[in-house]
Amino acid sequence: MKRLAVVVTAGAAVLGLAGCGPAERPWALSPTGVTSESTTAPPTTSSTSETRSSSFTPSTSSERTSALPTPDGDVRNDPLLGGNPVTLEQGVGVGQVDCQLPGWRNNPDANQAYYQAAIGCLDNAWRPTLSHFGETLESPRLWAGANAQTYDGACASGERNREAFYCGQDQTIVMPFDTMNSLTGSANGAGAAFAVISHEYGHHLQQQTRVLAQYSAQRTAAGWDSGPGLQMSRQLELQAWCFSGMFFGVNLGRGSISQDLWRKAANNNSGAGDRRGEARQHGTNQNVSNWFGWGFSPTLDRNQRPAPSTYECNPWAARDNGWIQ
Ligand SMILES: [Zn+2]
Repeated sequence: MKRLAVVVTAGAAVLGLAGCGPAERPWALSPTGVTSESTTAPPTTSSTSETRSSSFTPSTSSERTSALPTPDGDVRNDPLLGGNPVTLEQGVGVGQVDCQLPGWRNNPDANQAYYQAAIGCLDNAWRPTLSHFGETLESPRLWAGANAQTYDGACASGERNREAFYCGQDQTIVMPFDTMNSLTGSANGAGAAFAVISHEYGHHLQQQTRVLAQYSAQRTAAGWDSGPGLQMSRQLELQAWCFSGMFFGVNLGRGSISQDLWRKAANNNSGAGDRRGEARQHGTNQNVSNWFGWGFSPTLDRNQRPAPSTYECNPWAARDNGWIQ
């Protein structure tokens, strides 16, 4: 409780203070904190098939006592994006699945097979969520060629400076081997791969729930590269990281979603924010980790483990400006 009080105070004063930052952000969010949380993960199961579950756990009022951000946060309460049904209803989570992913081998064909299996797994986990909101999930397409130069999908003419991206026009997750290799060729390996594909899948969920269309219209109206436009971009990106965290929060310890995969994904994400010299469209490294961890378990209290829910993944209702930097 003392810890929470400190954060609330800092949050209220955040615009006027320098340095009230990461140290006061949720515990779950640094790779260090994440690793120490391993004892609370669900036990590994021995199931061999992917299963869907309708086991959404509604949040209880006690679970939400320390929860933030909330829709009555003090800034940036966007009436359109923040009012999407996905972020209005409490207690809607993501399904439990037993992902069976191929062993990680870092070559183009093996990567493609790994990504395709991950998409199948994410489909099974998110289908009941979409169904709850009256949508029939369409699986995203995958483009995972060896060379990014040969990509000729619907977003081929766009500016792309990241290792992977999601193309809303043809609902395709694009993860070229050569660009991804800077992440997956590191010690984070499969953890980086799953972190990125579950993030891009988060954009697909935004596409399926019309967040992406609303976002595009608003960002165009605001000016794509204006301050407000870049802020919308960060909100979109941070929500996708939060959705990625939700999947881990429900499925850590099940099937191929091991502690090691989680740790490596968190390591990857600690460097997944805006880079030096880049437009501020992804969020800081700290906020990427923050929202990933908030999706995993939306609490500031390390003794609690409230269930993930889409309601909590709402950067348009962030409690303060610091969360969407
Ligand atoms: Zn993204």
